[in-house]
Amino acid sequence: MSTIIKNGTIVTGSDVYKADVKIDNGTISEISQSLNPEPNDRVIDASNQYVFPGGIDVHTHLDLPGTVDNFESGTKAAAHGGITSIINYTNPVEGQSILENIKYWKEKAEDSYIDYGFHSIIDTSDDALINDLEKLANEEGVSSIKLFMANQDKNVVMDDADLYRIMKRSAELGILVNIHAENGVIIDQLVKEAVEQGNTSPIYHAYTRPAILEAEAISRVLMFSEMLNMPIYIVHVSSEEALKQIELAKQRNLPVIAETCPQYLVLDESYLEKPNDEGVKYICSPPLRKKKDQNKLWEGIANNIISTVASDHSSIPFKNGKYENRDNFAEVSNGSPGIENNFSLLYSFGVHEKRISLEKFVDVISTNPAKTFGLYPKKGTIRVGSDADIVILDPNKTKVITQKEQVQSTDYNLYEGIKVHGDITTVLSRGEELVSNGTFNGKQGRGKFLYRSTNK
Ligand code: MN
Ligand code: MN
Repeated sequence: MSTIIKNGTIVTGSDVYKADVKIDNGTISEISQSLNPEPNDRVIDASNQYVFPGGIDVHTHLDLPGTVDNFESGTKAAAHGGITSIINYTNPVEGQSILENIKYWKEKAEDSYIDYGFHSIIDTSDDALINDLEKLANEEGVSSIKLFMANQDKNVVMDDADLYRIMKRSAELGILVNIHAENGVIIDQLVKEAVEQGNTSPIYHAYTRPAILEAEAISRVLMFSEMLNMPIYIVHVSSEEALKQIELAKQRNLPVIAETCPQYLVLDESYLEKPNDEGVKYICSPPLRKKKDQNKLWEGIANNIISTVASDHSSIPFKNGKYENRDNFAEVSNGSPGIENNFSLLYSFGVHEKRISLEKFVDVISTNPAKTFGLYPKKGTIRVGSDADIVILDPNKTKVITQKEQVQSTDYNLYEGIKVHGDITTVLSRGEELVSNGTFNGKQGRGKFLYRSTNK
């Protein structure tokens, strides 16, 4: 039995065209103008709908301590939202080596409904870590790591010497380094000053993390990567100032890859001033910026300065989470949920509102993430031989985002009440129908670990 998607409009990172897609054994086996089904084939009618490669969310924090989405609920929410692969960040555990830690995280992910890989968050630059990086990449299939120049959790923050040691070894091994770039040392001073002056409401989260400190950290790490002659991946670029640094580096042909997130494209810092203590829901780092930053980020996507859009999904609850620390922004856990909404928001605010083309949408939600993190062309496109990870979207339907109807586990949705154009009607992962007109059919644990090779 084959599956045939009939009469849809296929969109890839480079083309939009009408054709039928045939799927055998989880793989795309044929693409043709008109395919005739055999009597026992399954036929999916995609008339007047788009047929996209599945979304790849390369920035998720499922099963992080203090959050409510594990790999079961988080990947179910992802699938509903058009995401068919994730790359999740591990979290270091005291006393575990990086190799013990990745085995621990692989066990946590066994409940996944969709395919998954990992980036390892590194919290030390000691000799044992430097030594273990080779096995992490070449035996565990984790070819990207994350380093923090600033974080609420001071244990993971690196100084420049740490960055240098780890980046140097990563360059030798072909590991892609992901950077959270903000100047944490100065942010800590600004936070201290604000709290001392009694300025503790959520908006001060934004005031104490100004965009110029994001730009400074990006420019610094770009110089380190230039010195070491290596590519670098900047996560969650949020501001015009930060984007400018990426643009300057790209003009000099430096291999920098930039990511942004839906919250920076759709929301702004005024959400931090929401009444009834709701502002705490919007505390994430970097902070939400201004409207002018949003516009620049969209331009950055359209102009190839930003390559990927990922959710940074961190499902910290409101009650029994952020709310309890509402009296001091500095104590509120940083992070926001969005794995379920990223694909739809990007389609609606991007394609529907004509800020980006259909091809560019696919580029940043699927093709570039796959290419950047070693999954292409198995993932990230619709072509013969690729995994049949496919999202069918009806552009003529609309949907209002609400917490009540979401699948992710948080007791709020950042985008509550926002109407999106385009409704996801079918989601296939390796040819298996996970979502069909709102019904979920996925089998728990069917997701596979994505072993990713280095750039060597
Ligand atoms: Mn971060
Ligand atoms: Mn993150």
